[in-house]
Amino acid sequence: MSGDPSRPTDCSEVLGHLYEYLDKEMPDVDSAKFQEHIEECRPCLAEYGLEESVKKLVKRCCGHDEVPADLRAKVLDRIDLIRGTGAGSGQAPAGGGTAPPAATAD
Ligand SMILES: [Zn+2]
Repeated sequence: MSGDPSRPTDCSEVLGHLYEYLDKEMPDVDSAKFQEHIEECRPCLAEYGLEESVKKLVKRCCGHDEVPADLRAKVLDRIDLIRGTGAGSGQAPAGGGTAPPAATAD
């Protein structure tokens, strides 16, 4: 035990430094704390998964792991959306076998 025990990792702190964690630009001590929190915190786990997916997608599509600021903003916006509506029981599409229309012209 070497560190400040009276300093819990906050969700907002985790999400605020998520890119540092993903980019491994974070000291091992902090990284470990982040991982511990993420593994135990469902919302963070979901959001961490989302960000990681985006990074992988960007890497695959663009050939580098720099997330464009534009995309990053979109992701953060999405996270904000998830955080804002996650607690409510607004959307529950799981009913029978109703799939959304696959034809989406963009
Ligand atoms: Zn959390």
